[in-house]
Amino acid sequence: MGTADVIVVGGGISGLAFAWKAGQAGRRVRVLEGDQRVGGCLHSHRRPDGYWFEMGAHTAYNSYGGFLDIAVGAGVAGKIIQRGPARSRFGLLRAGHVRWLTPPKILLQLDWLEAGLSFPAGIFRKKEGQTVYSYYSGLVGRRNYDRLFSPFFAAVPSQKADGFPVEGPGSLFKKRPRREEFVRSFGFDGGLQLVCEAAARSRGVEVETGVAATHVSRAGSEYAVTTADGRTVTAPLLALAVPPPQAAALVREDLPELATALARVATTEVESVGVVLPRDRCWMPECAFLVPVDDLFFSAVTRDPFPDPRLRAFAFHFKGAVPRADRLRRVSEVLRVPVGELGELVEQRRVLPSPALGHGKLVAEIDRCLAGGKLAVTGNFFGGLAIEDCVARSNDEWRRVGG
Ligand SMILES: Cc1cc2nc3c(=O)[nH]c(=O)nc-3n(C[C@H](O)[C@H](O)[C@H](O)COP(=O)(O)OP(=O)(O)OC[C@H]3O[C@@H](n4cnc5c(N)ncnc54)[C@H](O)[C@@H]3O)c2cc1C
Repeated sequence: MGTADVIVVGGGISGLAFAWKAGQAGRRVRVLEGDQRVGGCLHSHRRPDGYWFEMGAHTAYNSYGGFLDIAVGAGVAGKIIQRGPARSRFGLLRAGHVRWLTPPKILLQLDWLEAGLSFPAGIFRKKEGQTVYSYYSGLVGRRNYDRLFSPFFAAVPSQKADGFPVEGPGSLFKKRPRREEFVRSFGFDGGLQLVCEAAARSRGVEVETGVAATHVSRAGSEYAVTTADGRTVTAPLLALAVPPPQAAALVREDLPELATALARVATTEVESVGVVLPRDRCWMPECAFLVPVDDLFFSAVTRDPFPDPRLRAFAFHFKGAVPRADRLRRVSEVLRVPVGELGELVEQRRVLPSPALGHGKLVAEIDRCLAGGKLAVTGNFFGGLAIEDCVARSNDEWRRVGG
C-alpha cells in the first residue's frame, strides 16, 4: 500500500518545485528532508532579533519564471524586495588591495590592446564545444581572462568555472524571457528560503525534516524509500532531488546503471562562513560582493543590497579543502576584525556539481536510464546550477512522470 501518491527525497528548491507541481495537481506528496530545515542551498540564516542574511543563493531575477510561479502561487510574492544601489558595486581583492568596481569600471580594467587583438577573431567562434575559458579568453585575450574574468566567473557558482560548458546543459548563463511585472533582480524579505517554506506548506504537501533517506528500491509497481530512522515509505511515484553522490548511493543496489551515470557527475565541496557585524565595525564600503584573485575563497557575498541600519552580513564561500582555522583567519583578515570578535559564526558545507564539456551527454545518459519509469531525478546538475534551472528540470520531470 502506498503511504503517499508521491515521495520526494530532498527538500531544496528542486524537490519542493516538484512537490509543488504534484500538490497543485491534487496528489498527496511526502517530502523527506535530511536537514532540520527546508531550502538546501536556499539558506537564509535568521537571527532571533529578526535580522537575516543569505548563506547560499542570494539573488533571483525576473527571468526566473518557474520560480516566480511558485512564489506567486504559494502567496509570498508580496515579500519580494528590490536590490538596492549596493548591487552594482564589487570589490576585486588582489594581493591585499581592494579595487572598487562598477560594471563600466570593470571594462576599464581590461588591457584594451590585448582585447582589441583577440576580439575580431573571437567574436566569430562558435560556442558549441567550448568551455567558459576557451570561449571568453578567445574574446578578450588570455591575460585579461585570467586577471579579471576568471575570478568573477568563479564567484557565480562558488568554484572555478573555467571548465564549464559555455552553452547547453551545465552552462552558467542562459537567455530566458523576463517577466516585466517584477523588478529585474530581487530577494525576499526574510530570505529566498521563504519560497521553499511556502511550497512546503502548500496544498497536498507534507514535509518531514530531519529524515534522511538511506535506500531506494522497487516494490512491485511502487518505489520504497528506507529512512535513517528505520522506516519504509512507499509510493507509485518517486522523485530524487539530492546532490548526485547522494542520489547515486540511494539507487546503487536496485538501479546500478542509473547509479553509475549519476556518480559520473563531477562535484565539488564549498565551505561557507557567515558573519554579522555592527555597521561601525565594518571598514569596507557597501557592495554586493568581494571577488578575490588567487585566494582561499571564491567570493564574499554581502547583504548590502538589502541594507539594515544596524548590521551588515558577509558570507564567505571557501574552497572545500581549506582547514577551518585558515578559513577563520582569512575572514578575520579581510574584515579586519580579530577572530575572537567575529561573533556568532554560521558555517555550512555544500556539494555542488562541476559540469564540464560533455555534460549534455551525461544528462542524456541519466535520462535514458529513467525513460519509461515513474522515478524522477531532479536537481542543479541538469540544465545548470541556477535556481531557475532547478525549477525547470523539476517541471520537466513532473510532466514526464506525473502529467
Ligand atoms: C553559495 C551559493 C550561492 C548561490 N547563489 C545563487 C544565486 O544567487 N542565484 C541562483 O539562481 N543560484 C544560486 N546558487 C545555486 C542554487 O542555489 C542551487 O543550485 C540550488 O538551490 C540547488 O537546489 P537543489 O534543490 O537542487 O539542491 P540542494 O539545495 O542541495 O538541496 C538538496 C536537499 O537534499 C537534502 N538531502 C541530501 N541528501 C538527503 C537524503 N539522503 N535524504 C533526505 N534529504 C537529503 C539536503 O539536505 C538538501 O536540503 C548558489 C549556490 C550556492 C551554494
